[in-house]
Amino acid sequence: MPRSGRACRAARTTLLRGSATVALAALLLSHSLGCAARHRPFAGFVEEPGQAPDERILIIGESVEKRPLRLHLFGEPPYRTFIFAAIHGDERSAVSLGGALVDHLRTYPRDRQGAGVAVLPVANPDGVLRNTRQNANGVDLNRNFPASNWTRLPRSNRHGPEAASEPETRAVVRAMRELRPERVISIHSIHGGRECNNFDGPAGQLAQLMARFNRYAVTSHIGYPTPGSFGSWAGRDQGVPSITLELPRDIGPEASWRSNGPALLAVISTTSGAEARLAE
Ligand SMILES: [Zn+2]
Repeated sequence: MPRSGRACRAARTTLLRGSATVALAALLLSHSLGCAARHRPFAGFVEEPGQAPDERILIIGESVEKRPLRLHLFGEPPYRTFIFAAIHGDERSAVSLGGALVDHLRTYPRDRQGAGVAVLPVANPDGVLRNTRQNANGVDLNRNFPASNWTRLPRSNRHGPEAASEPETRAVVRAMRELRPERVISIHSIHGGRECNNFDGPAGQLAQLMARFNRYAVTSHIGYPTPGSFGSWAGRDQGVPSITLELPRDIGPEASWRSNGPALLAVISTTSGAEARLAE
């Protein structure tokens, strides 16, 4: 880490520990080294100590039942790739792949090849605890994004009372606003041999790149309507390349990482310009 980065981190850590005088001195030092001039996403957000030298953990919001939503930042900005998992709480293989990715990035920092990456391993912690697709309000969070195709269901709360009504949805929206990623992968799982690299927006080449590693089909249609999905909002409405990675529902943790770890690392370490070349 560069000297100024270390000073910034020392200032943040000291602030967390609550020693005002020492924190002020550390902040003055970090300012003199120039770190204040560099844009760092999530300024002012609550931060926890990372478990690796190149990791920051930000609390980007909380669930309906007040569980913290932890975003792990590896490396320095820009965080070109944003990966989130388990927005559907009953998709266990997605939960395990999100956790495995965080563990891997902590253990093998060189595998991201210097690229900054942001990972939200559990986007729906209440649903994971209850083993339900929906959050604690009974809302399917992947139908709650403020997409142009969001619809309120008659006599049902499943899409939420309004777009982005749920705190977990708003946390992901906030992460997008802070990170401004060049590409996003949301990790899900699906029954019946329909695993795929489903893409929205200009992400066809990215999906092809992933398919070279995980051998899943590449498709722009999942086969049923998904109003208010993340892909509709970020991919189709805003043109941010977005992949919905659908794992086999019953794949075990080791097989899941073996098939998909290299695909995720390939996306993290590629630069936008190289995508087309790599996918050819
Ligand atoms: Zn899902």
